[in-house]
Amino acid sequence: MLHLPTVQGNLADYKDAGFPILYICTDEEDRADRYIGSIVGRAKAYEWNGANGVVDFKTKVSKGNGDETLTAALSRFKMSSELNRALLVIKDADKQLDDHEWNGECEKVTALLKEIARNIRRGKSDATVIIVSSEIHIPKPLEKLVTILELDLPDAKEIRDIINGFIQETGISEIPGKFLDDMTIAFKGITESEIKDLLGLSVSRDGELTEKALQLILDQKQQLILKAGILEMIPLKESMADIGGLENLKDWLQKKAKVFKNMRAAEKFGVTMPKGVLIAGVPGCGKSLTAKAAGKLFDVPLLRLDMGRLMGKYVGESEENMRKAIRLAEAISPCVLWVDELEKAFAGIGGGGGAEVTTRLFGAFLTWMQEKKSAAFVVATANDIMKLPPELLRKGRFDEIFYVPLPAADERRKIFEIHLNKRRRKDAAEIDIDELVEKTEGYSGADIEGVVGESVENVFVSEKGKLTTDDILDCINNTHSLSEIMKEPLEEMTKLYEERKFKKA
Ligand code: ADP
Repeated sequence: MLHLPTVQGNLADYKDAGFPILYICTDEEDRADRYIGSIVGRAKAYEWNGANGVVDFKTKVSKGNGDETLTAALSRFKMSSELNRALLVIKDADKQLDDHEWNGECEKVTALLKEIARNIRRGKSDATVIIVSSEIHIPKPLEKLVTILELDLPDAKEIRDIINGFIQETGISEIPGKFLDDMTIAFKGITESEIKDLLGLSVSRDGELTEKALQLILDQKQQLILKAGILEMIPLKESMADIGGLENLKDWLQKKAKVFKNMRAAEKFGVTMPKGVLIAGVPGCGKSLTAKAAGKLFDVPLLRLDMGRLMGKYVGESEENMRKAIRLAEAISPCVLWVDELEKAFAGIGGGGGAEVTTRLFGAFLTWMQEKKSAAFVVATANDIMKLPPELLRKGRFDEIFYVPLPAADERRKIFEIHLNKRRRKDAAEIDIDELVEKTEGYSGADIEGVVGESVENVFVSEKGKLTTDDILDCINNTHSLSEIMKEPLEEMTKLYEERKFKKA
């Protein structure tokens, strides 16, 4: 489902090849109209919509009394020769096509569309039915007769045309080529009407399109992405220097970042574009931290897709949401797409509730990873690799799979240094880190951060003024390490990683 053919470049071919029902999935009716308009040619074109019944597609002039139901309109078209060499566009028909609420009308509409489509297939009538909707509702009996096309978000050329069109319409000053290029990139990932709104907003603020517009556009674009509610834009705060240990993973990412940042040259040289990495392992040991730092390292926006939320909040819609998220990420690319809690997406595989949805979601994700050509670098993180299906772990999906164990002594040393320097740089030099390292075997990175944070707070509250080794040791003595709390699952997990020969991070 993820790789739908796009309207751009395919619509005319599908029509000419006699596909009976095309289904354009989009929020942008005006743009869909433009694309449909471009293939009408000399043919007749009708439209049925909820507000006006049947109208002439081009002029939108009513062809009836304005309140003909879809059922009535289809019955009429089925009987008459009007649909010969014609196009019938159907809008606002979500309810009539939603077989979850299988009702008299849906049943009737389905039967009529099936009949019309069959006549087209048999060559009895030379027509094309085009359904335009923002959601995908296809009754089962129609599945084999319907081809879904996706209206891609505007590409660079379209965006440029929209901006130029806007400049002409509003009569504001022309803008330099470099600025036009920057704006074009900034507008990637949003719809035409959103682009127009943002252009309007910029001009109403400044009177012209100035460099100031760029920042406004970027800020607003973040808002739009947030509003879609599926992806979250994460501010780029963390960097590689904030991660203690995980040297193999850091080295690997640094190499990929170099390729990613020099994409054109690398591809020319014969380098394969990096797809992404799966980082699995012990909770609280720097997986999310690394995902966040990857944004800065790659020097691109960081988008987070929270699997737990995608699955939990939108039961039944999760497949559609996954599709949207991936499309958005591709449109915004180059970017890093952080897929958090990957295992949550696959929890239902192989039985249990919602197993069918998760299996399809899983298939969709696999295909996307396998075929991905866009510059969306995936960093997937997972706490529990046992829940991940083996197919996902085979090569070809991710460029590499790393497992993050509990930090070894030298890694704990670095993690202490990082967190001490962050909070009490002044006191750090006098602290006996060797002793702390020795006393924290089995502690996760998050445990160590917790110990440092707590001891700093204690010192502040007691007004001692200076943090010492003993203050931290006190906290360590009062803390249960992760390996104490999760002894068995941790041992089991470590065994599994070693058996499967995953790379140690
Ligand atoms: P998870 O592996 O569960 O994703 P996180 O990366 O969210 O864990 O770690 C939680 C917090 O613990 C981090 O924000 C960081 O402050 C601290 N931490 C964990 N691992 C490390 C590490 N290797 N280096 C520095 N800090 C770490």
